[in-house]
Amino acid sequence: MAAWAAPGLAAHRVAQPQPRSGGDALNDHPIQSLSELKSQLQKLPGIGPRSAERVAFHILRESRDEAAQLAGAILAIKDRIIHCRTCYNLTEADPCALCANASRDHKEIWVVEQPKDLLALEATGLIHGVYHVLMGHIAPLEGVGAGDLTIDALLDRVRSGDVREVILALNPTIEGDGTALHLQSLLADLNVRVSRPARGLAVGTQLEYATVSMLESAIRGRSPM
Ligand code: ZN
Repeated sequence: MAAWAAPGLAAHRVAQPQPRSGGDALNDHPIQSLSELKSQLQKLPGIGPRSAERVAFHILRESRDEAAQLAGAILAIKDRIIHCRTCYNLTEADPCALCANASRDHKEIWVVEQPKDLLALEATGLIHGVYHVLMGHIAPLEGVGAGDLTIDALLDRVRSGDVREVILALNPTIEGDGTALHLQSLLADLNVRVSRPARGLAVGTQLEYATVSMLESAIRGRSPM
């Protein structure tokens, strides 16, 4: 660490060695810290050996301040981000900005599997209600049961609040559908409307290229026009 902070060295442009053809330049790199950074980067989704190498050398060329900002930003999301205790969205304040927003329709709860699903729905600008993040789906083969999700908290919200409608916006997968059916049965006794987003043909799809399951969903879910 101290060596890289030596005067003149941080600004020095470190030459990037040419990787041997078909080889993995850093795996047997004698500089252990560089090799370690690359192996850490490779744990990130979508980052393979070549990308990890490019990022590692990019960081090496950066100033120490820039590298510290990157390291600080990584630690900040671990230290500052928590789950909202109402909807389980990721947030730095509890309740989150969505739950604290009085102009949202708190009688309408959109149930999603993950925070990233919430972001996708929110990006449409069409949701005026609030959310509930399940933090996954029921997947017995992966050892995830109903008790591992935030289902009890959702039921408590519906029981204690003045909720008009719960929209089960889960992924249209076997696990998502199974989880939605489970939720539907639990919510059936709670005097609340339960719905789910339309499914079937994606906008722009031509019928001849649609899969059978897409067509089945579209046919069953047809609506008046
Ligand atoms: Zn919230």
